[in-house]
Amino acid sequence: MCNEPNRPNQNSGTRMKYSSHPGYRPGTSRRQALKSALTAGIAGMAAGAGLMSFSGVSFAAALSKAQRDAMSPDDVIAMMQKGNERFRSGKMQQHDYLAQKRASGTGQFPAAAILSCIDSRTPAEILLDMGLGESFNTRVAGNICNDDIVGSLEFACAAAGAKVILVMGHSSCGAVKGAIDDVKLGKLTELLDEIKPAVKATKYDGDRTSKNAEFVDLVAANNVRRAMDEIRDDSDVLAKMEKEGKIKIVGAMYHLNGGRLELLT
Ligand SMILES: [Zn+2]
Repeated sequence: MCNEPNRPNQNSGTRMKYSSHPGYRPGTSRRQALKSALTAGIAGMAAGAGLMSFSGVSFAAALSKAQRDAMSPDDVIAMMQKGNERFRSGKMQQHDYLAQKRASGTGQFPAAAILSCIDSRTPAEILLDMGLGESFNTRVAGNICNDDIVGSLEFACAAAGAKVILVMGHSSCGAVKGAIDDVKLGKLTELLDEIKPAVKATKYDGDRTSKNAEFVDLVAANNVRRAMDEIRDDSDVLAKMEKEGKIKIVGAMYHLNGGRLELLT
């Protein structure tokens, strides 16, 4: 069974109350479901995974096809959450990258596809304590969505078998701040235009400037939701897979302060 890492003190001053914001749905049932999924998922994975350890000690090889295929989308979400708990509590697995490289050299069976920001502080594989061959990663400033990214996600899920699409925004995002400030800079101008609908859609009566961290993070969360909607709207392939329960499309905010991955519901 997993060792439950000691949770670091949460900085309540930096934790966003997304569920209280207009447009945000309460997340209690999702969180309860994830707890159940975590238990079931780990049991299922351990049964067919001689090389995997969830004790926080090691992860000897990349996911095999059998291991990945045995996981449900909820199992994958739970795996990423557990990895984030290890990351923020300083109990990351000791990855044997040489072994992972050897194991994944003849094929890849990633469990997730992650769309996240280019911010140097938000490399998903590290934040979620995942090894080589375990996740597809597409990164772009402000984790916006476009046709190329949708195509990449279609490849990840429909062709390569990933079970979860995670859109991960983060606190204090420079791209979100740039959109709020209407920054103009070369090609970045067009990219920031993709974030502006989220700025407009964020209902907030206080200071609507990039100096207000609360507003910036609420916009970032809405920007994640917008990307999730775009994936569903722009890809019949992925929308169908989600409807059929083959994949889940989930959103999250990563908190630079504290390192917590907060699922958005
Ligand atoms: Zn960012």
